[in-house]
Amino acid sequence: MWGMIATWTMALEGVTLASQLLQENGEIGQAVEKAICAVEDFPFYKSVGYGGLPNEEMQVELDAGYMDGDTLDIGAVAGIHDFANPVSIAKKLSGEMLNNILVGAGAEKYAHKQGFERKNMLTDRAKIHYKNRLKEMEEEQLEMKPYRGHDTVGMVGIDTQGSMVSATSTSGLFMKKAGRVGDSPIAGSGFYADSEVGAATATGLGEDLMKGCISYEIVHLMNTGLSPQAACETAVNHLEKQLLKRKGSAGDLSVVAMNAQGEWGCATNIENFSFVVATSTQAPTVYLTNRVDGHCVHEKASEEWLKNYMTTRMAPLEEK
Ligand code: ASP
Repeated sequence: MWGMIATWTMALEGVTLASQLLQENGEIGQAVEKAICAVEDFPFYKSVGYGGLPNEEMQVELDAGYMDGDTLDIGAVAGIHDFANPVSIAKKLSGEMLNNILVGAGAEKYAHKQGFERKNMLTDRAKIHYKNRLKEMEEEQLEMKPYRGHDTVGMVGIDTQGSMVSATSTSGLFMKKAGRVGDSPIAGSGFYADSEVGAATATGLGEDLMKGCISYEIVHLMNTGLSPQAACETAVNHLEKQLLKRKGSAGDLSVVAMNAQGEWGCATNIENFSFVVATSTQAPTVYLTNRVDGHCVHEKASEEWLKNYMTTRMAPLEEK
């Protein structure tokens, strides 16, 4: 038995590649790294890796996290510039004795010394998105503030040996402040894995996801006996309720999880949240989920929806 679940439709190609590896008894760490690198390398996904949308100073700043559910080792990088595959750096850091989480210049120095590929991560297309947004803000006299267009790729999975991993990669919020760090490289919030129980990962508004340490919370709930689906729903619904009660608003909260038996779950407080599942008994499949009366209902994405998704991502973009 093996399985993987990942946030957003953009994970489909990566999960498909990784599932071949898992099918041949490959290691989950390698499979997840390979899958996330595929998302990082694809220029048309504008919230992860190459082509990711920049911060307010027009720099692409990347965060990534990785957790090995066998050893509970974690590694993460935050606020790094110009490295092709932040998830690989995070994975490498998870194997170090100390200094597992590195930020900014220190993380870049480490990555350089370890020979990770340097790459200018700001594409012409991302520059156009940035300039168009600046213009829009000037016209509407809006102050500079983080903007939608963020989606973290997060993946969890289990291999035929029963090892589990959770990992993330993101360019964070579009138009964020330089140095802003979201939940994605924060263990327990953006990702968590324990091979004896299960693993989870999150996407949405990092500032709010962190308030509930939501990935750890889901793994904890699975450990009390909840199914991955019930654990995801409980964690999202509870955090949203607390945020509404205490602050009057709640940001986007979406999560996916898998347990040590390979059962999976997903919950969200937004409309049409998409995710990808592949297991030893299920070919890679994209689902869309919506919350109805506190429970998330998953539906397979149609061929037409998937075609439209790709066309929109790759449509020509002009400066306004
Ligand atoms: N959670 C990410 C962050 O706050 C963004 C996202 O997943 O949409 O940086």
